Amino acid sequence: MSQRLDLWWIATLGLVLAVAGAAPAEDLLIRGGTVVRADGSQRADVRVRGEVVTEVGSLSPASGERVVDATGLLVMPGGVDPHVHLAPIADVFRFADDFTSGSRAAFAGGITTVGHMAFPHEGELPMATLEREAALARDQSMVDVFLHTTILEPSPEAVAQVADLAAAGQPSVKVFMPFETFEPHHAGFLRLMQAAGANGVRIAIHCEDAHTLDYAIERLVAEGKTSLDHYTKSRPVVSELVATQRAIAMAETTGASIYIVHLSSGRALEAIAAARGTLPVYAETRPLYLHFTEERYAGPNGALYVGFPPIRAASDRDALWEGLASGSVDTVATDHAPWTRAEKLDPTLTIESPRPGTNNLQVMLPMLFSEGVRGGRLTREQFVAVTSTNTAKLFGLYPQKGTVDVGSDADLVLWDPDATRTIRDEDVLSNTGYSLYAGTEVTGWPRMTLRRGDIVYENGAVSAEPGSGKVVKRSPIAR
Ligand SMILES: [Zn+2]
Repeated sequence: MSQRLDLWWIATLGLVLAVAGAAPAEDLLIRGGTVVRADGSQRADVRVRGEVVTEVGSLSPASGERVVDATGLLVMPGGVDPHVHLAPIADVFRFADDFTSGSRAAFAGGITTVGHMAFPHEGELPMATLEREAALARDQSMVDVFLHTTILEPSPEAVAQVADLAAAGQPSVKVFMPFETFEPHHAGFLRLMQAAGANGVRIAIHCEDAHTLDYAIERLVAEGKTSLDHYTKSRPVVSELVATQRAIAMAETTGASIYIVHLSSGRALEAIAAARGTLPVYAETRPLYLHFTEERYAGPNGALYVGFPPIRAASDRDALWEGLASGSVDTVATDHAPWTRAEKLDPTLTIESPRPGTNNLQVMLPMLFSEGVRGGRLTREQFVAVTSTNTAKLFGLYPQKGTVDVGSDADLVLWDPDATRTIRDEDVLSNTGYSLYAGTEVTGWPRMTLRRGDIVYENGAVSAEPGSGKVVKRSPIAR
């Protein structure tokens, strides 16, 4: 009697737990597609149970399973975007998107995991920043999230918490070289980087040199050239180059592994490529630098294209594409920092007070696929590498994220490589309401997106609940 009662209780408890948790995902068989991984492609079916992929191969439907016809489609790991801003930065940068609206845009664009830049409040220590922003992500997000904790002032107390960030499963820190807090704390940043290297924490670093920027801006102001037409000259390539060289030197000094965010120039890329053989130095670029050239800043809509650093010359754009193909640029990130069109075109903005950032989450992958893969600059395997696999590996998420394999999270995008569409403002799901790429015809578009086994985007519609995204714990990173 007691044994039967125990079994009944266990069964009832299991049912109650299943109902109390998220709605259980459907059993799925994704059939007839081509599975694309960074190291090769194969025709294969993919079985999904719960949140994970359980089989990849030639599979027959099981009873009760929903069969998704993927004939003619690519089955790729969901995009892992290492660089987004989906929460305000103090009271200065109040972005148009939060984690919920950002998630909508991401799912519609085939992205299932994002790396958010967590910014400290005044006087806040890193663990408090991490916990506060992680709570926001847990409340609002539908995409899965990992966090880079920004450290502006590397006090001994802050440096001591670098090991705690790793222990909390978020082993990365963001450092800003152009901010006014960098120069006075140079020695502190060396100690911070040493602690990062010793604890398997990666340093994501924004490379622009404050003194060079100040000098360039001062000269332009003296000539009366303060409008954003002069934006490229206000943040010259040499400011990125000298900061990149210095960041590499700091990595060599301290043993830290660095990840250079939003790389814009061919000259800085050469410095990175030269260091890669001996030092753990990695690089990210973003859509602005791959699809546009500096001529965009001329004219009445030039301010829409303002980001740190600026868009460069055609030769820089071509060098970044070649870097993606050769492997010297590891990832493409959105750096989604969303403003409305009116905010970007505010007539009071100048080279001394620009408003950096653009929205990118919804169309980064279609633009990159169209110009990269369809345009013959990248293979589809390289596309998967730079938009998912490399990022997952660099930030301690692989193989849970970043691949289509047995045991990996069923974060999948079913991609129609032949669908041709024109990007339109009216389709934008970000609260910004516009796209820099509106009017561009692209070939290659997501048909369906799954996040941990749930279909979150299908037939043009996003369906997920705010709070269904997880803050994903990561392993300490290797160098
Ligand atoms: Zn950023």
